[in-house]
Order: sequence, then C-alpha cells, then structure tokens
Amino acid sequence: MIRLYKSTSLPLAGLSGFETPLSEEESAIQNSVHRFARDVMRPIGRELDRMTPEEVIAPGSPYWTVLAESAKLGLDPALIAQFPPEVAVRIESLIGEELGWGDSGLAVSLGVATAPLMMAQSLGNQELIEMCAGRLGCWMNTQPDRGSDAAILYREELAAGGKQPIGNVTAKVGADEIVINGQSSAWVSNGSVAQVALAYMAADYGDGFYSTGVHGAFTNGIGLIIPLDLPGISRGKPLDKIGQRALPQGEIYFDNVKVPKRFAIALKDEYLGNLSSMWSYAGTHMCQVFVGAARAAFEAALAYCHERKQGGAYLIDHQMTHLRVGEMLRRLEMARAIARRSLAFARMSPQSHPYATAQAKVSVTEEAMKITHEAFQLFGGNGTTREYPIEKMFRDVRSALIEDGENYHLTMRLGVLAGRLYQNGWTQE
Ligand SMILES: Cc1cc2nc3c(=O)[nH]c(=O)nc-3n(C[C@H](O)[C@H](O)[C@H](O)COP(=O)(O)OP(=O)(O)OC[C@H]3O[C@@H](n4cnc5c(N)ncnc54)[C@H](O)[C@@H]3O)c2cc1C
Repeated sequence: MIRLYKSTSLPLAGLSGFETPLSEEESAIQNSVHRFARDVMRPIGRELDRMTPEEVIAPGSPYWTVLAESAKLGLDPALIAQFPPEVAVRIESLIGEELGWGDSGLAVSLGVATAPLMMAQSLGNQELIEMCAGRLGCWMNTQPDRGSDAAILYREELAAGGKQPIGNVTAKVGADEIVINGQSSAWVSNGSVAQVALAYMAADYGDGFYSTGVHGAFTNGIGLIIPLDLPGISRGKPLDKIGQRALPQGEIYFDNVKVPKRFAIALKDEYLGNLSSMWSYAGTHMCQVFVGAARAAFEAALAYCHERKQGGAYLIDHQMTHLRVGEMLRRLEMARAIARRSLAFARMSPQSHPYATAQAKVSVTEEAMKITHEAFQLFGGNGTTREYPIEKMFRDVRSALIEDGENYHLTMRLGVLAGRLYQNGWTQE
C-alpha cells in the first residue's frame, strides 16, 4: 500500500538521521549518551588533543574524568543483552554512534577498556571476571614486527613460501605456568594506562612455535588475560600521534613475566577462533564509532554553511553546496546502514566471521574519511586552523583507516574469503 500524505512535511529526523521511531527506552539511552558525549567527551576530547601524551595520562588529567563519568552512565553490556537481539543491536549501535560523535579517540578507549572483562564474562570464568571487574583494560595483539601479520586466518594471505612471523612478544607454555617475554606494538589502545590486558601472541607449547601440517606457515598462539601489575611488566613512552590523541597508546614490555596457566583463555587449538571473536567484536564497535565521527563532521559543516557568506549569500544558499551537503548526508546514511547490518550479522548470525565485520569497518571508515574531507573543504581556509573543530576530526578519522586493520589489507582478506566461500559452494546453486 502507498502511505498517503496530504502535505510535504519535513521527514522525521533524529540524532541518528532517518531512523524508524525509537522506543522510549531506546530514546532515553540515546539521549543520556548524547548528553555525556556533548557535555563531557567533546570538551575534554578537545582539551586532551592539545596536551602532550604524558599530560593526557598524568594523575588529575581530564582523561580520568571521562572514565569516571562514563561509569555513571550504567551502560552494562549484560543489561543490553537482555533486550531481544534486534533491539540490543540497535541500542548498541546508538550508543557507539553517540560516543564516536563525542570524541572518537575517547570512544575507542572506552570500548577497549572493558574488552578483558567482556571476554571473561563470555567464557563465564568467575576468577577472571573478578580479576577484570573495575579495572581498565586493553587489547594487546599487534607487535612491532607483527602488524597486519598478527591475525592471519588463511594460507592465501601469506606470500608463496611465506611464514607468519613469531613477532616480538612470545609465550612459553608449561604445565601450570606461562612465561612471557618481549614487547607489544606502541599502538595498543590504552596500553600506557591499562591495568589488565586481553593478550594474544605466538606460543611454544614445548615443540616450537610452528605446528606441522596444513597450517604449518602459521605460528601456534595463545590468548590470555594478564594483570599488568605482575613483576617484570613495564611500559613504553606514551605514543605521540596525529589523530585520536585523547586515546592513550603505548608499548607494554614483558621480562620473564610468569602468568598462571589458568589465566589462559584460548590454547593452541582454540587460539584463532578466540582471536577472531575478539577482532570481530572490536570491529563492530569501530563501525558505530566512526559513523558518529562522520556525523560530527557533517553537522559541523552544515552549521558552518549557515554562517559563512560568499558570493552574496550564505554557503547553504548556493546550489553547489546543496550537492556537497547532500553527498555527505547520503554517505552518512549509507555508512550507518552498513555499520548496523554488520553489527546484526556479528551478534545474530549462527556463524559470523571477522572478515565480514572488517569489510564493514573498511566501508564505514572510508565513507567517514570522505565526509570529513568534504566537511574540511567546506570550511575553506578556516578548516586548516586550530580555531575550528574540523581539523581535529579530520586527524581522528584518518587514523581509523589503519586502526583495527589497514583498509587495503582487510579488503584483500575479503577477497580471500569470497574465494573460500565459492570453493565451498557459495553462489553455485
Ligand atoms: C589508532 C590505532 C589504534 C590501534 N589500536 C590497537 C589495539 O588496541 N591493539 C593492537 O594490538 N593494535 C592496535 N593498533 C594497531 C593496528 O592494528 C595496526 O596498526 C594495523 O593492523 C596495521 O599494522 P601495521 O601498523 O604494523 O602496518 P603493516 O602491517 O606494516 O602495514 C604497512 C602497509 O603494508 C601493507 N601490507 C601489509 N601486509 C601486506 C601484505 N601481506 N601484502 C601487501 N601489502 C601488505 C599494508 O596494507 C599497509 O599499507 C592500532 C592502530 C591505530 C592506528
């Protein structure tokens, strides 16, 4: 049936664009996260952006205010999981988008902060839950010589005759104890402040780092939760970078660190599956956050077009501006749709896959970059000054094309997956 209207009123558009009506609960959650994003994350994110990485993590830094205030929101993932799956997906998406709209670097920090706890809860391991609850977390996967290499799932991802490197941090797995040596990459989000790590690395179970057999080119691995106050653990200098400066990053060093074997969450055979689950989880958060970051850039440009006059009229009164603003909004709606679809697939499909999440992360961040670039351009010369917010948004979004997997590399992996699916019968009926 055709839905009939008697006039051409404006469409219903909310914080998250052309959204079907939100329930009372969804609206309440969206509004409370929006207030937090607007009143706490935005101003503090801008402040932290101007500070040195050392100042960002110093006692008394406003970074700690964000963590304290976010805890008051009461956004317990276990509560959200009680909603029917479709509703839980929409709520998760609304929350991630508002956080990203507030400040993408802080949104990533808040996201990884609970990664070790979420893993412990997913496993139902009470000892690990108690160890992680109330402690700031990080996800430690990449290393200086093991970046895109850190998570390889299929043989085609390696060059002919190539081998996955062992990397720079490794575990020797004994009967009751795991001994860890080496260092993570400087890119570990929250690495310079975290109290507990969800860590993945190459492991020697007594027969070397490589298994023989079909997966011989891959290292054996281990996933474990590590309290970061154990003897032998130290930190690198907090990382100085162009974007997401509010997100503290830095190396974690291990010198003969002894971890009880019961802190392992995935040994040899479960390693890749567990790593895939965590990666997929991280990717879904990235998608929602960078829809929010793109929306922030779009909104800033839209407002500027109503303030700036050129050619005898406000920018918004020129036809070319309509095209440019329309293009940004079209891309934003597309990015949100992709972000939500992949979130729904990751949470609701009986068999999801990290490359399915990763392709959405690529699309969302590429669209976010295009939107933010165009927003920057609409600000003219003003966009290039630190007086206006758009240059920070531009830097923040740029980092996302590499964060959580470099975008070309992730797209290549989607191609590998397509080949594997075809060989398994997909599209052949
Ligand atoms: C803001 C931010 C936050 C991050 N947070 C975390 C975190 O919380 N935890 C964590 O563990 N890591 C984190 N990272 C690290 C991130 O996952 C890596 O930066 C990313 O996976 C790429 O690895 P790399 O930087 O070593 O680049 P490399 O892997 O060295 O890639 C460099 C270039 O080489 C290309 N390349 C790589 N391999 C191949 C190949 N086989 N064939 C052809 N070309 C190739 C890539 O496409 C890329 O253009 C973060 C990074 C950023 C920027």
